[in-house]
Amino acid sequence: MKTIRLRDGKERSLQRRHPWVFEGSVARGGADAGETVRVESHAGEFLAWGAFSPQSMFRVRAWSFVEAERIDAAFFESRLRRAIALRGRLGIASDAMRLVHGEADGLPGLIVDRYGDLLCAQFLSAGAERWREVIADALCAIIGLGRLYERSDASVRALEGLEVRTGWLRGGVAGETSTDLVITEHGWTLGVDIAQGHKTGYYLDQRENRRRFADLVRQLGCRSVLNGFSYTGGFSVAALAGGARQVVSVDSSAPALAGARDNLRRNGFESLLNSGACEFADADVNQYLREALAAGRSFDAIVLDPPKFAPTAAHAERAARAYKDINRLAFKLLAPGGLLLTFSCSGGVSADLFHKIVAGAALDAGVDGAILQRLEGACDHPTTMVFPEGEYLKGLAILKS
Ligand code: SAH
Repeated sequence: MKTIRLRDGKERSLQRRHPWVFEGSVARGGADAGETVRVESHAGEFLAWGAFSPQSMFRVRAWSFVEAERIDAAFFESRLRRAIALRGRLGIASDAMRLVHGEADGLPGLIVDRYGDLLCAQFLSAGAERWREVIADALCAIIGLGRLYERSDASVRALEGLEVRTGWLRGGVAGETSTDLVITEHGWTLGVDIAQGHKTGYYLDQRENRRRFADLVRQLGCRSVLNGFSYTGGFSVAALAGGARQVVSVDSSAPALAGARDNLRRNGFESLLNSGACEFADADVNQYLREALAAGRSFDAIVLDPPKFAPTAAHAERAARAYKDINRLAFKLLAPGGLLLTFSCSGGVSADLFHKIVAGAALDAGVDGAILQRLEGACDHPTTMVFPEGEYLKGLAILKS
């Protein structure tokens, strides 16, 4: 077993059970990509077992803080069982959910989502990559499913020296490039393509917020809705389910909008599609909001769920301007008493900072509003005590004065 010795004073974070060892904390030692190493303090005390990643700024990611534990197939089976058992207790109103959320489930670099009877996994670190076959076998055995698709095409893999890899890892039809799959969320029927869609196919982290939005639309009697950054129209279906009668879905991806159209049809809103009450705009949201404003339009509710503008805190300033801009335009476009649901999924923008940005946007728009709810990611994307970095999605539901 290879040993990694930390610099003097760098043991604190592992002692607090935070799973990352940064490049600069290592005094000496090395190993192959993904190999299990013993991490020791400068004084030689055991701190953790972890996966070494020679190219990454996260030089080691801890698997376990228990010296007696062995990192083997049984270890992964036990961690996976624990993660899956947790989801069984959360009362998730869908047959699609995140089963493994990386560090928060003690499995750094591993993401596993379930969509009905399909599994979809991302191996995002050298350590997860090393145990890929063991993890695939254990997952299928524990859940009793035979089809597991791999979406290891997230850009972070490059930082680990790993290449893009996608395709069936277990079961499935070799060479299949798209999956025609339907999930049920809050009783709505939604199409998901785990091979071609974003991430593992769908934004599962917004599940509870789509439900809240449907409820607020109903409670407030919102009729016209603009769904900015709609992807496949999850919030558009929610709006219509909540009683809205006119929904514009705006996204810069044509396949996503085609998916949104299909999803509206699947949920019985065919007549609204045919009457033109549902629009699909293949456009940049910022541009669309400006044009809508210039055209004198207004909406009873607006959703803004943009992609990650700030992947790290270093991008926060430029991202802040982009967030402020779209939120200012949305505040102006909202009818008096209208509802804004606004999000940031940037790890580099804290909930506090996001609140300030949105408040600044309201001020610039010359309006005020009441915060009805503070929003976060769904419960199957947990944030743990020791790993606050896992908290990335934050949002506000605001009622314009
Ligand atoms: N709210 C969605 C998820 C949105 S993900 C849901 O509940 O499923 C962000 C979306 O923004 C993606 O679909 C992406 O195609 C789109 N997007 C990214 N940049 C954009 C831009 N400048 N204008 C419009 N859409 C954009």
